[in-house]
Amino acid sequence: MSAVSIVLNAGSSSLKFQVFDADGRAGTALFRGLFEKLSGDAAGTPARVRIRDGAGATVHDESWAVTPGHGHEEALERLLGWTRATLQGRRVAGIGHRVVHGGRDHAAPALVDDALMDALEKLVPLAPLHQPHNLGPIRIIRRLLPDLPQVACFDTAFHRSQPELAQMFALPRALTAQGVLRYGFHGLSYEFIAGSLASYDPALARGRVVVAHLGNGASACALEEGRSVASTMGFSALDGLMMGTRCGAIDPAVIFHLIREEGMTPAAVEAFLYSQCGLLGVSGLSNDMRVLREAAPTDPDARQAIDLFVYRIVREIGSLVAALGGLDGLVFTAGIGENDAATRAEVIAGLAHLGVALDADANAAGGPRISRAGGPSAWAIPTDEELAIARHMSAVLGATTH
Ligand code: AMP
Repeated sequence: MSAVSIVLNAGSSSLKFQVFDADGRAGTALFRGLFEKLSGDAAGTPARVRIRDGAGATVHDESWAVTPGHGHEEALERLLGWTRATLQGRRVAGIGHRVVHGGRDHAAPALVDDALMDALEKLVPLAPLHQPHNLGPIRIIRRLLPDLPQVACFDTAFHRSQPELAQMFALPRALTAQGVLRYGFHGLSYEFIAGSLASYDPALARGRVVVAHLGNGASACALEEGRSVASTMGFSALDGLMMGTRCGAIDPAVIFHLIREEGMTPAAVEAFLYSQCGLLGVSGLSNDMRVLREAAPTDPDARQAIDLFVYRIVREIGSLVAALGGLDGLVFTAGIGENDAATRAEVIAGLAHLGVALDADANAAGGPRISRAGGPSAWAIPTDEELAIARHMSAVLGATTH
């Protein structure tokens, strides 16, 4: 029987996973699951895991009293035990991880070894809220199963093809040399879309394309011949577009104001800008686009939050089109981009000057092509970051996965 590979996406108190055939060719996962509430708390809130099969049916649902500080370890032990019991006889060929930061040196996925772990550890200051949670499970699995190959796939890697100017801030060179650069994120998603475009429109895959990844995290990326040339996220995943709870680009002087006038500590400012702003902050209601769409007809703050979200996307797309020197196509993806026809229509209305002409019926039907003939085309295309990781794993692990 063929081997399987497991893809992990670890957060501070959660762990998402998918199980694939290890050859990476399958379009859908065999199983997908989510561990939640792994942090443990004084109230003794239990951790929970739910696992669904490829058809979406729940095949496992379990809660347990988590040991504070050991939630991820307990989750991984459960996952490996469940995998062994469920996939009797099928070998686990490897585990692939979504790692937010690969720094300037990693333009491709990499097999985990001591040297890589040291290098990724050094990048923690560049992504303090995410990188430690990504590295934790890699370390735990190295301890539990030292011989199991692990592959780190970086959200920054795809953007290393950007020209030097697109990666630089206007800062003294010493800081640039230290790695204070625009890295860009959501790279696994953009890479997946760049790789799928040819199956929708081969000429477009070789052209100038802006991809808008609009989920709870949101960014946009300029692609030329399938390579990233510019992106809205920069040094961190806080920059660029307005997001569910993140502010996106703001004048840095707002931060001085919060520290001086509001008496906030740097850590409090960081937590605030990541988790209390964006759609949630402006609406005062929710970070969830579905909730805001429902409220918008009678709630002016919800309506304005959506309007600002769309306005910021239109402005940033203008900047990316300038970096590309023109536009052949526009792709919407991720939770809002794939599902919210109204956001797609509003963004395209703001880009009428570029000649993008909405096909309202196709848009309402979900695409994939949502524009009429003539002018740059527009598309709604699903992304799949986990499948991108599974494919990388099969390439990195090569013959060992078959
Ligand atoms: P993601 O982070 O990619 O999972 O995207 C999450 C965002 O997608 C949330 O704001 C959701 O409200 C939004 N979303 C998911 N499904 C829909 C839908 N059917 N209509 C509008 N927004 C949606």
